[in-house]
Amino acid sequence: MKNLEKNNKIRAKKSLGQNFLKSHSALKAIIDAGELEKGEIVLEIGPGKGALTEKLLESGAIVFAVEKDKGLIEFLTEKFQKYIENKSFFLIEGDILELDIKSILKNTFNIYKIIANIPYNITGAILKKFLTEENQPERMVLMVQNEVAKRIVANNEPESILSISVKAYGSPKIITKVPARYFSPAPKIDSAIILIKDINKDFFQKNNIKEEIFWQIVKTGFAHKRKKLSSNLKNIIKLDEKYLNARAENLKIEDWGILAKTFK
Ligand code: SAH
Repeated sequence: MKNLEKNNKIRAKKSLGQNFLKSHSALKAIIDAGELEKGEIVLEIGPGKGALTEKLLESGAIVFAVEKDKGLIEFLTEKFQKYIENKSFFLIEGDILELDIKSILKNTFNIYKIIANIPYNITGAILKKFLTEENQPERMVLMVQNEVAKRIVANNEPESILSISVKAYGSPKIITKVPARYFSPAPKIDSAIILIKDINKDFFQKNNIKEEIFWQIVKTGFAHKRKKLSSNLKNIIKLDEKYLNARAENLKIEDWGILAKTFK
């Protein structure tokens, strides 16, 4: 059977968060935000039917793609045969949350970008895994649910464990909103492309803060949302006066840095 016919026969699996992107403008916005140069390494999570993969490959990147759906693996192998042969495309069958980055990138590379339209049900787990990873990507360009994108950036909105988690490691920005009808099948909610730039561990290293301690304080601070920070944290740190009336959601990443430093 021809690849094109197979393309139309593939039924999207809800359990794997399959919503295939069909908008050229959204694909272009993702590629532009990636600022790819020829030969750069990209990790794509969930290539699906390869709409984004194709653009990544055309931009000259070397793409490592991890896909859990066996049926799609066969489809992609056929579709991108040429790129597989000339070693610019490496397709890995598996669950992104169970693989470690060194084995995916075959130990050869340590500078890479993650550019992907991910399965939304594992957004949090993907962020956690790759932001805290020893071998972090230098940037991520991700399609996520619009509400999640807004919560991550938290512009004029309350901060959350999610927004603080991302800001501790990088600089998040919303590139553009993407309407549900740009996908097939269309999800129930709108999406957004988010860019997380300059990913590193400087915040911890420069401030001499241990990651574990930092997260313990943040989690405890957010434990009872309606309570004041001072009540949530009363057994662990002595708060400076300026934080006495604050709630966890009012604190910026810098404030959490200050709190973590006072913890000895
Ligand atoms: N990037 C494609 C497909 C997005 S849908 C596009 O833009 O059209 C999400 C994709 O992630 C699907 O192909 C799905 O099979 C895959 N997927 C779901 N869970 C996964 C996991 N745990 N590890 C790797 N891939 C996964």
